[in-house]
Order: sequence, then C-alpha cells, then structure tokens
Amino acid sequence: MAQFTVLNPATEQPVTTVTQVSAEETDAAIARAAAAQASWRAVAPGDRASLLRRFAAAVDAHVDELASLEVAGSGHPIGQARWEAGHVRDVLLYYSATPERLIGKQIPVAGGLNVTFHEPVGVVGLIVPWNFPMPIFSWGMAPALASGNTVVAKPAELTPLTAVRIGELALEAGLPEGVLQVLPGKGSVVGQRLVDHPQVRKIVFTGSTEVGSQVMAGCARHIKRVTLELGGKSANIVFADADLERAAATAPYAVFDNAGQDCCARSRILVQRSVLDRFMALFEPAVQGVAVGDPASAGTEMGPLISAAHREHVASYVPDGAPVAFRGRAPDGPGYWYPPTVLAPVGADDPAYTEEVFGPVVTVTPFEDEADAIAIANDSVYGLAGGIWSGDPERARAVATKVRTGRIRINGTPIDMRAPHGGFKLSGIGREMGRYGIEEFLEYKSVIG
Ligand code: NAD
Repeated sequence: MAQFTVLNPATEQPVTTVTQVSAEETDAAIARAAAAQASWRAVAPGDRASLLRRFAAAVDAHVDELASLEVAGSGHPIGQARWEAGHVRDVLLYYSATPERLIGKQIPVAGGLNVTFHEPVGVVGLIVPWNFPMPIFSWGMAPALASGNTVVAKPAELTPLTAVRIGELALEAGLPEGVLQVLPGKGSVVGQRLVDHPQVRKIVFTGSTEVGSQVMAGCARHIKRVTLELGGKSANIVFADADLERAAATAPYAVFDNAGQDCCARSRILVQRSVLDRFMALFEPAVQGVAVGDPASAGTEMGPLISAAHREHVASYVPDGAPVAFRGRAPDGPGYWYPPTVLAPVGADDPAYTEEVFGPVVTVTPFEDEADAIAIANDSVYGLAGGIWSGDPERARAVATKVRTGRIRINGTPIDMRAPHGGFKLSGIGREMGRYGIEEFLEYKSVIG
C-alpha cells in the first residue's frame, strides 16, 4: 500500500502519513456508493435535510480542530483556516434547505398532464485541488448529497487531512455508510478511476485546465456529466477616477491571499496610465505591509507556498533580470516561503503576464482608456474573476458587462459565496453554489399521463 507523508509547508516537518487508495479500492468504494444511493435517495426529504444539519453541527463543533489541520497540512493562516472550516458548515446549512424544495413542474398538455421530476444523477465523483481543500470539497459535496446523490471524493495528494476528517464527521453525524466516502490518493489512480468508472454518473472537477481537459475527454466516453472549475489569470482594472488609496491598499490581498494560490487571484493589475505613478507609490507600502510568516500566528496574512516543487515553479516566473518593481518580505529558514513580488513593466509575451503563476507574483500594466482596459482584460485564454475600480458606477457596470469573466467585483465589494460562481473560456464550465449548484446534480424526468 502506498504511503504519503504530509509535510508542514511552514516547517518542512512531517505532519502525518496517509495511506493512498488503490484503483481496486476505488472500484470497491464506487460499488458501495452505488449500493447506498438507492436508500439515500429514499430518505424522506425532511430527514435528509436534518441529517445535513447534524453534519453541519458536527463540523461546527470541530472548527478549531479542522482549522489546525489546515494550518499544519496546507500552511493556511489560522484566521483564514477557521473561516474555511466555518464555511463548510455554512455550505452544508445552505444546502440543507434544498431537499424539501426540489419542486418540479406541471405542464398542461393535450390529453393529460406533463409532470417533471427532479432526480439525483447517482454516484458523484468529486476531485479537489490542494489550494482550498475545505471550501472546494464542500461546494461539490453538499449539493450532491442534498439532492440525493452519494459521493466519492478525492482530495489532492498534498492536502488530504481535512477532507478525511470531514468524512469521519459525516459518519459521526449519522450519515449512512457509503453516502460520503473520502479516498486519499493519486490523481492518476483514484481520480482517473472516478472518471473512467461507468457507475460514476457525474464528475465535479476543480483543478488545472490541463487536467480538466483530460477529465472532460474521459467523461465523454461515458456521456458523463462534468463540471469544471479551472485556472484563471484575472484582471484588476483601476481607472483614474477610482479611490486610488483603497484600490492600492486592497490590491495585495486580491492576489497574495493564500500566497497567490487562488484561481481567482487578480494577478494582472491594469492601471490607467495617467495615475500609474501615483498608484505604484501607494501600492509599494501596501505590498511591504503584508504580514508573511508563521501561519499559526493570529496576525499572519500570508503563509508559505504548498511545496518545494511549487516554489520552484513560481520562482521560474521571476528569473534573474526579471522586471521586479518591488517586493514584500518573507521569512528565512525552513518553509516554502516566497515574497510578494510585483513585476512592472512587463512585456505582453512574458509568461508571468500570460500564464497562471499560482503564487504571490503580480504584474502591473498601464492602459489608455475604457476600450483599451477591456481589450487587455479580455486578452487571456482564461475568464474566471476580476475587479474594477472606478468612481463612476455606470462606467464600472458597463465595463463589467464587457469583460469576459465569470465573477467581477466592483470597488472591492466582498463576494457573497452563496452567489453562483464559475468560469468563462478555459476557466471552466458549470456553476457552483447558488441555485445553479443544485441544478448541476439533478436529472429532469418528464412524465406524461
Ligand atoms: P491539478 O489539476 O494538478 O489537480 C487537481 C486534482 O485533480 C487533484 O486532486 C489531482 O490529484 C487530480 N488529478 C490529477 N490528475 C488526474 C487525472 N488524470 N484524473 C483525475 N484526476 C486527476 O490542480 P492543482 O495543482 O491541484 O490545483 C491548482 C489548479 O486548480 C490551478 O490551475 C487553479 O487555478 C485551479 N483551481 C480552480 C478553481 C476554480 O474554482 N476555478 C479553484 C481552485 C483551484
């Protein structure tokens, strides 16, 4: 049996060892999930709702434990990790309202009535990346369970600990065996088997565009439903009429949160040329003020990168001679640290400008006018998120309608995670959360009689 040692990214010390699941064990888990699905689907909607609320209560009672696991196993700052564990509870509570509201339609037709029913798709395979192990797990798991599906989930190799613990909490809360199974293991083994197994009727994949495209091709062989949440290279557009102080003070957090390991990182800052110098003067102290350090300390805003290999990958975007405008700080010594780094001016063909770095590296590019800003923002294969800063609400709204991206915030308005989200272009298909979330997990049956 393959063993995987989880390392603490802040200390490089082992946290624990996890046994990785084989392809045969994955098949056995899928068979258990298929067997459990008939009875889970038959649980009365009100009872399924109350089981999900008990599951939420179990998570709530273990927020500190889950947060500590995420600090140790993923290097997330403790404040962020607590929010993430609480978010799993909130997502379960949000979807606990749906089993009793899966209401179909009656359509009058000649000679009778057409009634539509919503039915679960069956067994759902959930494949999760390492950057947000808890939230992304919950966005697939909660709506799948609420709509009567059973779930086989595969956390990322590097970060299995919180998902495994949440799976245990589900059982402690009373969810029947086989309804939610968490299988730590390799993407090429467990993930691939979920994609290839004919009894898994839907895949929820979050990860890179490269693997997502292979997953989609694999799902095509079985006409399997698939939701893809993939990469991003989002623009943060700052117009000359914006509140520049606020735009500059918040821009570091739009890209350096989670050490930039965020698909929604606004990693291309576009600034109207007439205020570029002023913006950069305000941005520099804001970047240097980001508190980078021990993720277990309450005041830490940015922790380490996930692994040595990933740090090497991030550093490759900042070779010797790269146009570093300024940098923040990072600890010396053990840990996969990388300082917040601002690149300017960058060429339009610089990989740091065109590719998803997935680390604390941001580029700053000037633009002339509205049309130029929209053209530059859209000049990317990705379309996941974005930001607009302007003192003119009409302009901000007009620009938002023209930027081809799944989610945009204006003047830093916080995102409500209950709103549907997902990407355009190579950033994915399908939407999570909100009303769309549940629709992704249902079949629609039309009965005429
Ligand atoms: P990844 O694509 O390497 O891996 C994602 C998951 O897929 C992991 O669990 C991995 O084990 C599994 N996997 C790998 N090969 C597989 C295969 N052949 N079949 C099935 N599963 C397989 O991505 P990552 O490095 O873990 O995460 C970073 C990427 O995820 C970034 O590109 C980031 O933008 C993206 N991401 C997107 C969103 C979003 O909501 N759009 C959110 C978070 C992360």
